[in-house]
Amino acid sequence: MPADTKANAVETHQFQAEVKQVLDIVIHSLYREREIFVRELISNAADALEKFRHESLVHKQIFDEHLSLEISITMDEKEHTLTIADVGIGMTHDELIANLGSIAHSGAHSFISQLAETARKDVNLIGQFGVGFYSAFMAADKVRVQTRGFRLDDQGWEWTSDGIGSYTIQPADGLRRGTKIILELKEDAHDFAKLETIKRIITQYSNFVPFPILVKGEKVNTVKAIWTRNKNEIKEEEYTEFYKFVANAFDEPMYRLHFNVDAPLTINSLLFVPKENFERFGFGKMERGVDLHCRKILIAKHPEGLLPEWMRFLRGVIDSEDLPLNISRETLQDNTLVRKLSQVISNRMLKFLEEQASSDPEKYAQFWNTFGQFLKEGVANDFSRQKEIAKLLRFESSKTEKGKLTSLSEYITRMKKGQKAIYYFNGPSREVIEAGPYLEAFRSSDIEVLYTHEPIDDFVMTNLQEFEDKKLLSADQGNLELPESAKKEAKEEKEEGAKSQEPLSEKELKSLTKWLKEVLGDRVKEVVESHRLVGSPAIVVNPDSSMSSAMQRVMKAVNQDVKDNLSQLTLEINPGHALIKHLAELREKDADFAKIVGEQLYDNALIAADLLMEPRNMVDRMYKILERATK
Ligand code: ADP
Ligand code: MG
Repeated sequence: MPADTKANAVETHQFQAEVKQVLDIVIHSLYREREIFVRELISNAADALEKFRHESLVHKQIFDEHLSLEISITMDEKEHTLTIADVGIGMTHDELIANLGSIAHSGAHSFISQLAETARKDVNLIGQFGVGFYSAFMAADKVRVQTRGFRLDDQGWEWTSDGIGSYTIQPADGLRRGTKIILELKEDAHDFAKLETIKRIITQYSNFVPFPILVKGEKVNTVKAIWTRNKNEIKEEEYTEFYKFVANAFDEPMYRLHFNVDAPLTINSLLFVPKENFERFGFGKMERGVDLHCRKILIAKHPEGLLPEWMRFLRGVIDSEDLPLNISRETLQDNTLVRKLSQVISNRMLKFLEEQASSDPEKYAQFWNTFGQFLKEGVANDFSRQKEIAKLLRFESSKTEKGKLTSLSEYITRMKKGQKAIYYFNGPSREVIEAGPYLEAFRSSDIEVLYTHEPIDDFVMTNLQEFEDKKLLSADQGNLELPESAKKEAKEEKEEGAKSQEPLSEKELKSLTKWLKEVLGDRVKEVVESHRLVGSPAIVVNPDSSMSSAMQRVMKAVNQDVKDNLSQLTLEINPGHALIKHLAELREKDADFAKIVGEQLYDNALIAADLLMEPRNMVDRMYKILERATK
């Protein structure tokens, strides 16, 4: 291109709207830990080198082939500039626009609005969501990016911006391969041109970058594949440093599993469970965080299919010497070795978690509270490992103290003689579950009930179906088969209570249930005598064991048509309860009013199951009843 056209060739582009928002957050809210911008730029440089290394395997003609793969950092204390240069893959004109002018991240929209709220609290998120480059504007008034691709005929370009609304791109000659980022430091950021500052930041966050980082010519990082080293020789601090590096974290991990085996495959892996679960804060799906290496060389960053999807909360590295170095990233999932690798490591991880759960249950409870949702997802989706994952599930129960958890195996050890199933019941809190009528029969026969608090839990239980040959059943199931011994106890207790309350005779009961069914019509499947109620007059139960009321509630929330499903419920009434007896008498004296009471009885049972759809409909009816009661 002739020199004069070039002078005119400065293009000005506007940043994409999302980028403007990110920049605004980055510049105005995130100064507390702003030194992480160094880490972000170094990690981009390392990514670029990695990509170059990969491309260089397939391309014949490469520009500046002799350059050794390193990152060099220089600074000018007088000019207040900091320069980070790599000899990586570089960027073309269009790549500059796509990568440094917009945000490729799919969840960008929701992420940005969330970020605005949380950013102040958690700068960690910047790196997690790939807005890394823009963090340069935390410390710089102006950023210049000079870049040239790796192909012989690639043109060099310079990108500049003050991070406010736009950026420029123009051709640049005389560039070597790779990218150089020049930051003109803000007045209050002049420190970043100091040797000690930069060295300290690198040791803290970028020590394990797998390429040499030279600061003013001096190599400052370790470049050691810590995962291939002997466990006994690694210090705690080194592990923590490495964790901060692989997970882009600031804190320490919750768990660490360093795992080296020689058979059936040679595997060196170092995996971490972080302390935080961002999915819990509504940030959308957590991104995978385990890299695949072969003989210390990165094959793929966070590849899909390396571990089961529900293990996406793990961070770290898996290295296997048995993989071919030139394995294609695209076909990783179809590779038999990778599948084998995945198998071995996920099983080891499950075993590890089981060990943790038994050796330090309190810490495990903390893990469960943070990452339990992933295990539940595993039970629901990872069919081949379902049984193993189920051992890791934890719930509160009627036999645990509030806030304490128990496992399905522990539950089994406490099962009553003759008890065939594991029972659970869903409710928003322990108090709500215990106040409702569903536990009455279990309480009086001393049978344990697990408390599930999230609607997904019932989905998980239904999906799991059984644990160690014991069926998992929701306590609101219609045909409860409590063990004979327990039933007897329950009955005795009932009879004791009934001495003052002579229950309805068989005949009266039959006529009452028949009448109630007529009154309620399609709203119920049937009305029957209850064998489980002690203190409550009535209850709705599910004749169909595949659908607990918690699941019905979920359906109710998402689907108006669920009314049809509700008609599948059975109403059970307690023949010994005073209200039921009065109702039987009232029928004879005042049929119209008895009808009102019958309807209210049903609605109350629905309320107890949290299944009442239109509470407003019962207000008039309630007034009629109250009017009569206050007469
Ligand atoms: P992420 O690294 O998560 O993709 P960044 O905001 O850090 O997000 O970088 C955006 C993109 O810009 C990168 O994906 C990469 O394509 C490009 N990029 C950034 N720095 C470099 C560099 N030094 N060399 C080549 N490409 C780069
Ligand atoms: Mg980055």
